[in-house]
Amino acid sequence: MSDRVIPIQSQATLPIPALRAPLSSAPHDTRGRPLRDLRISVTDRCNFRCTYCMPKDVFNDDYAFLPHGELLTFEEIVRVATVARGLGMEKVRLTGGEPLLRRGIESLIAQLTVALPGIDIALTTNGSALKAKAKALKDAGLQRITVSLDSLDDKTFRAMNDADFPVAKVLEAIDAAADAGLGPIKINMVVKRGVNDHQVLDMARHFKGSGHIVRFIEFMDVGATNGWRMDDVIPSAEIVKRIHAEFPLAAIDANYDGEVAERWRYADGSGEIGVISSVTQAFCANCTRARLSTDGQLFTCLFAAKGYDLKALLRGGADDAAIRDAIGAIWLQRADRYSEIRTAETAKGRKVEMSFIGG
Ligand code: SF4
Repeated sequence: MSDRVIPIQSQATLPIPALRAPLSSAPHDTRGRPLRDLRISVTDRCNFRCTYCMPKDVFNDDYAFLPHGELLTFEEIVRVATVARGLGMEKVRLTGGEPLLRRGIESLIAQLTVALPGIDIALTTNGSALKAKAKALKDAGLQRITVSLDSLDDKTFRAMNDADFPVAKVLEAIDAAADAGLGPIKINMVVKRGVNDHQVLDMARHFKGSGHIVRFIEFMDVGATNGWRMDDVIPSAEIVKRIHAEFPLAAIDANYDGEVAERWRYADGSGEIGVISSVTQAFCANCTRARLSTDGQLFTCLFAAKGYDLKALLRGGADDAAIRDAIGAIWLQRADRYSEIRTAETAKGRKVEMSFIGG
């Protein structure tokens, strides 16, 4: 094991605050933000070792992933989502690690679909198992899918996923997902200077006119293990400029308040791209996302250091009203705005790993 920082997954959790007044049906946090999105990590494991998320020298054979008994069961996940629905939650995004590694994920999607009619259910995957599962995911009730794809160049892609996984298989999986009716597909590319930024135009060119939407993501100081440096960040403004030089772009409005990606359409009408600029253009002001970790901790920010243990309530006999009050009380006192206050110092701070709470 290198002398790099050991991730802080399951350390002490924050005490759940007391509720000071009866809860409204849609509590807002201290900055007036509603709880609209629940991102649920269904596994802390992944078959990739993307260097900006799960570097191999930390997440290696010695790494202690969570034993199965520590993972929330599907019933517990559905229960938390149902309670959050009663607090105004409208969207569930299933993440990981790699969510398609969680056995029976289709059954979880089916249970969520039945328990939460009208809810928007999406999933983010590295695509490695998607080709075989696309139809079953759609049939289970999945509505939208996002595929991570950091390069079209096979050598660069294999180097970035650090699992020697070929890009061709992910491209086939994207086609299979589209054929299964999961399109238009969002494609997430994390752009790192000197690693894959030379691929930005190729990615834009490849998916232009396909109906799929590439989102170019600024390299973020998530967790404490990816060796983040500001020098490695390509600001979104530069990415837009590069693409615009070849394919003229025009800014378009967000689909909804709190949308993470800034949208740009191709002036020739052949589709759109997005940029996600957590580092250079913080979007905390309308962040409506809560994250449920694989072992049942609720995190109120991607860059949080600690979460709140809901599993103890779930397995301690608490009824739904008590869980509702707990989530409500947590949200009411939420004040997160990490991207607005990021400094070189905070970037080095201890933060939960993205692979544990799902991006
Ligand atoms: S830094 Fe935290 S509060 Fe800001 S947008 Fe990201 S998750 Fe939301």
